[in-house]
Parts: sequence; C-alpha cells; structure tokens
Amino acid sequence: MKLNRMHGFSIRSIIRLEIRWRYNHMSNKVLKPKKASLYQFTQNYSNNIGNCIEFFKSMKWPGEFSCDRCGCHKYYLVKRVGKTKTSYVLECSSCHKQHSLLSGTIFQSCKLDLYKLLLGVFLFLNENKGISAINLCSILDVNHKTALLLENKCRILCH
Ligand SMILES: [Zn+2]
Repeated sequence: MKLNRMHGFSIRSIIRLEIRWRYNHMSNKVLKPKKASLYQFTQNYSNNIGNCIEFFKSMKWPGEFSCDRCGCHKYYLVKRVGKTKTSYVLECSSCHKQHSLLSGTIFQSCKLDLYKLLLGVFLFLNENKGISAINLCSILDVNHKTALLLENKCRILCH
C-alpha cells in the first residue's frame, strides 16, 4: 500500500515536498524518518497561532519570505476574519502584493483554521493507514464533508 511509503516521514517534510512539487521546485534532499508525538505537537501548535503561521510559512518559503513580484523579503502579516475561518496573508512591505499562506498548495481551498488543518494533517500522516473522515469529524469538530475533503487531500499527499 502506498501509504506505507510515507510512514516515518515527518509531516513537515511531506508538506514541504508537496508544496515544492506544486511550485515545480525539485528537491534532492533526503527525507529523514521522524515520527512526532501528539504531546509535542500540541505543545508546539495548540493555542499558538504564531507557530501555526510560521509552520505554513516555512513550508511555502523555506528560508525566508520572498515576494514573487518584487523579491522583497519584508512583509506584514494581515489577518482576515471570514465567516467560516480566519486566514492570514503576507503583504509585501515594498509593493504590497498579498501572498496567501496556502495558495498554490494542495490546501488552498481548505475551509479550516490553520490549527485545525495542521492537526488534521498531523493525525492523518502520523498513522500508518491514515485516519478516517468520521474520526476527523469528531476530533476537529467539523462537518463530514469538510473532514472528507481533508482526508482526500491527505491521501493525495501520500501518493
Ligand atoms: Zn513585493
């Protein structure tokens, strides 16, 4: 089963791999086996939106942020409060182009807050055979359709 191939890879490596693939950047970096603990995960990300943002930012821009219009490395973080979720964009401090944290990645249409998204992906990828949409529903407190979409995206990450 293909899912087994990713067993032991860190969530960070997998998401980075996917995002790089979407951006047509190939990486020869060897993925090191690493399984994270749920305790450590919650210590790092629960009630810490700054760390969640930093996680997705470092996935999309390994190293440092770079504006794709002018190349500037400085940005302002802009919070967008929507009906279903709060999202964040990085606005270039030079040309003011706004860069979504998730656009261009497999999660760009995701209707989950960053922490819920990260937790769902973590739970899925940290299990050998993933986690079912039913379980994601109750753990993340989301409806079945949202959980199913997330589960499907996680499965794509594993292929
Ligand atoms: Zn710019």
